[in-house]
Amino acid sequence: MIPIAKPQIGQEEIDAVVGVLQSGMIAQGPKVEEFEQAFAEYAGSGYAVAVNSGTAALHVALLAHGIGEGDEVITTPFSFIATANSTLYTGAKPVFADIEPDTFNICPAEIQDKISPKTKAIMPVHLYGHPADMKAIMEIAEDHKLVVIEDACQAHGAECLGKKVGSFGTGAFSFYPTKNMTTSEGGMLTTNDREIAEKAKMVRAHGSKVRYLHECLGFNLRMTDIAAAIGLAQLGKLTGFTAARQKNADLLSTGLKDVSGVSVPVIKEGCTHVFHQYTIRAKKRDELGAFLMENEIGTGVHYPIPIHKQPLYKELGYTDSMPVSEKAAAEVLSLPVHPGVSEADVQKIIASVKEFYARE
Ligand SMILES: *Cc1c(COP(=O)(O)O)cnc(C)c1O
Repeated sequence: MIPIAKPQIGQEEIDAVVGVLQSGMIAQGPKVEEFEQAFAEYAGSGYAVAVNSGTAALHVALLAHGIGEGDEVITTPFSFIATANSTLYTGAKPVFADIEPDTFNICPAEIQDKISPKTKAIMPVHLYGHPADMKAIMEIAEDHKLVVIEDACQAHGAECLGKKVGSFGTGAFSFYPTKNMTTSEGGMLTTNDREIAEKAKMVRAHGSKVRYLHECLGFNLRMTDIAAAIGLAQLGKLTGFTAARQKNADLLSTGLKDVSGVSVPVIKEGCTHVFHQYTIRAKKRDELGAFLMENEIGTGVHYPIPIHKQPLYKELGYTDSMPVSEKAAAEVLSLPVHPGVSEADVQKIIASVKEFYARE
């Protein structure tokens, strides 16, 4: 079986966890601080604040920017549900803007159309590891004095305009086991604004800077030193992981680009794509997925139902139609691209996709 995702855990991660367990400091402590510094440096941001999930990083980012009841946050409906839910947690309203058909990322012209006097922030997602159009998004944000919160949960190390994603606005990263690097569960907020970093640290720990003095409503969203130790080991390997993903993606695209029925991922000029997912558009998507499964190749659909069509959002009264997202949801299929996929695996994937369409 070639799985769609597989965390790369080695002896370094095991030794690091054992070391923390033996130290006796097993909640948030010195490893978290070390991981924050190392990640800030990697991500090209002044500050990094570790939390216990990517969802928490988005939630804390919104709260640190003072977003809440009465505010609107413009985001994409073609993402994991956490993107929009983080806004709901604060009492603010997610407003959806449709995506671009080639990168699957939020469309700047659609953002422009959705701006109202209540708009406080734009939350683009760097979906599958391909940067959103940050040039256009930062221009819109500047014109309308909006905060930008980048959902970089799938895009560790991706770059556009010579900068790492998560360093344009306030960034949110996930370290869930399927992501480009993991801490088991975990997340990180990145920012160049010292004040936002300080607020984020308070929100993560019950609104407290000084022990037992609580200045605002906060939560317990802390990362453990056990998770941070895994993260430090993974961060040291991330460049290699990314190169392996990019190599696999390149081989897949070379093998699949002329297959009728398939469109392979694009990489926009000036962007690096870190291939959290290698996602094609495929004719007869569900049949292809089933055929690959019979051939012991795992696939994924990211995502089968756009967020505005989820029962929760229907219940909240969302009725807009988002045709580009809805079409994408019916056509996308992710193929294994992670560092555990060998060159022989890639050749098997290509041959199996070709075999499927040859039978059609
Ligand atoms: C994974 C993911 C999240 C949430 O991260 P968790 O660590 O699972 O909470 C948010 N947004 C996107 C786009 C994701 O892929």
